[in-house]
Amino acid sequence: MKKALKGGEFLIKTTLAQDIFIPEEFDEEQKMIAQTCTDFLESEVFPIVDRIDKMEPGLMSQTLKKCGELGLAAVAIPEEYDGFGQSFVTSMLSSDIMGAGYSFAVAHSAHTGIGTLPIVYYGNDEQKQKYLPKLGSAEWLGAYCLTEPGAGSDANSGTTKATLSEDGKHYILNGQKMWITNGGFADIYTVFAKIDNDRILSAFIVEKNFPGISTSPEEHKMGIKGSSTVQVFLNDCKVPVENLLGKRGEGFRIALNILNLGRIKLGANVISACKRAITQSVQYANERKQFRRLLSTFGAIKHKLAESVVRVFANESAVYRASQNVEDAIQMYINEGMDVGLAQVEAQRKFVIEAALLKVYGSETLDYVVDEGVQIHGGMGFSAETQIETAYRDSRINRIFEGTNEINRMVISDTLIKKGMKKEINLIPKAVELLNSIDSSEEKANFTGEYFDTAKQITENLKNATILVTKYAMDGLGKKIAQEQEVLFNLADMMMQSYVAESTALRVEKMQDMIETEKLDLFKDMLNVLQYESAHIIYKAGMDAIYSCVSEDEQGKILKALDNLTKVKPTNYKNARQRIANKLIEDNKFNFTY
Ligand SMILES: Cc1cc2nc3c(=O)[nH]c(=O)nc-3n(C[C@H](O)[C@H](O)[C@H](O)COP(=O)(O)OP(=O)(O)OC[C@H]3O[C@@H](n4cnc5c(N)ncnc54)[C@H](O)[C@@H]3O)c2cc1C
Repeated sequence: MKKALKGGEFLIKTTLAQDIFIPEEFDEEQKMIAQTCTDFLESEVFPIVDRIDKMEPGLMSQTLKKCGELGLAAVAIPEEYDGFGQSFVTSMLSSDIMGAGYSFAVAHSAHTGIGTLPIVYYGNDEQKQKYLPKLGSAEWLGAYCLTEPGAGSDANSGTTKATLSEDGKHYILNGQKMWITNGGFADIYTVFAKIDNDRILSAFIVEKNFPGISTSPEEHKMGIKGSSTVQVFLNDCKVPVENLLGKRGEGFRIALNILNLGRIKLGANVISACKRAITQSVQYANERKQFRRLLSTFGAIKHKLAESVVRVFANESAVYRASQNVEDAIQMYINEGMDVGLAQVEAQRKFVIEAALLKVYGSETLDYVVDEGVQIHGGMGFSAETQIETAYRDSRINRIFEGTNEINRMVISDTLIKKGMKKEINLIPKAVELLNSIDSSEEKANFTGEYFDTAKQITENLKNATILVTKYAMDGLGKKIAQEQEVLFNLADMMMQSYVAESTALRVEKMQDMIETEKLDLFKDMLNVLQYESAHIIYKAGMDAIYSCVSEDEQGKILKALDNLTKVKPTNYKNARQRIANKLIEDNKFNFTY
């Protein structure tokens, strides 16, 4: 039994390649589930994307139900409630593949995630028996109602009220919810409201047929046009007392934990969406000629394609590493005797930092990929006739929901600092140790070893740069750091790049025993490009933080260390990107993994 890591601990501990899970290790069953998802999208979703986006009545819910018939809405539901009870990694894999399905992907993700998992994690046996089999088969569809007109990022400030009826049999709900995905056709709504004068939310399972619940017409949106988004009104809505989910006052905790799951899931959701956009872009570049040459022969286009490939490969490496860490923690809690639902929640709570950084990195990777995808398509990319245009518009929401990227960046650094202060992770002793050896940072940038020794040293240096700057910021700002958002953002970016760069390095190192040496070279190219870019982002973010919180006479020492710790081994990065792009161009599709 593997010892489960603590979330955020990656920064201060050395992880070995053999200790992480990589996508090249998916087993036959996982590959079969992935193939079923792919087949479903190919046959049932891609041919009707336009019809879905025009909101043809009933089409989205019918498509979700077809997906349910194949078991693709029940992957994460326990077997005792007619689900498949698959591992966390497998459920991330199905989210990854289904994520390529434009508006359908959002509806599927909302139904199987925020629409169903509150009951999987917090429902009592009766509630699970009643709702999970029908949600798993998609006979009933789910939605999640947290946001209100006056309560967005500050979700606990909602004013929806619940009062007990005189006979004590019902809660009477009154209030208004906003931006509710799947709200137009859902059968089951998880609604958050405050009982009487409680300061903290409670959660309720509300059926669409309960008296007093109604919805607005559909919102008109920039993207994910086929995804249902409505307001939900609760006017003296009668909810039986047995439909309180969890305990009174536990709603905010439920909401946060479900958002936490939503974040890591979003990191997975964007992977296949990126790969599809890259495939469409390279296919266009391989067909379109200008100046009597194919677009794919131009260096400028190769640069965009290679950068896109590198970022999605890195995102994928980080998502599956974190997913296996969560799975290991789930198994550890179950072995300690914890209830399966609670084990899932607690395991995910451990990895709040990783979930938030994967959400930010994933959503910004997809934005980059579709933006350059449109650019590669030129005028055609601006035409509503191409799917890259749809992908571009659809991508934008990912930086807004599941906690905006601003909120998630603050979650990353706040949580790291709190864990460090509470000694949950040994951040401070590690930082002090680094401070004491700060003058030796130059030696650490002396790359003389073989390839993977150098890659490991670079990873270690990037993490140490992050730790050092965090310590300087904590010392320089004291308690005020919680209010210094710009600095928190710098630290979050450093953490995020460190995690992604390390995950990619460990993956490529582990791959060396799985593939032929010539093929490995291409993955080394990807790692080199990624480390080079991560190092630059970390250097810039570190400088920003140091200039804003360290006195001028102290800056010299840390800036010198930052400079040394963000060095990479010089190589011709342009040629490395060209080799990556050439492989993509030759394959005429994204074909870099398992
Ligand atoms: C298409 C769509 C689908 C959605 N689906 C659902 C759903 O199914 N269920 C549900 O409950 N909700 C859903 N939402 C709501 C979504 O989660 C919120 O829109 C999101 O949390 C942001 O809240 P807000 O829109 O009120 O923005 P605000 O909170 O008003 O934020 C506006 C801006 O200010 C920034 N900001 C806010 N607070 C801070 C701060 N403390 N420090 C720095 N910057 C800050 C934000 O990052 C953002 O840039 C959906 C939204 C959309 C658009």
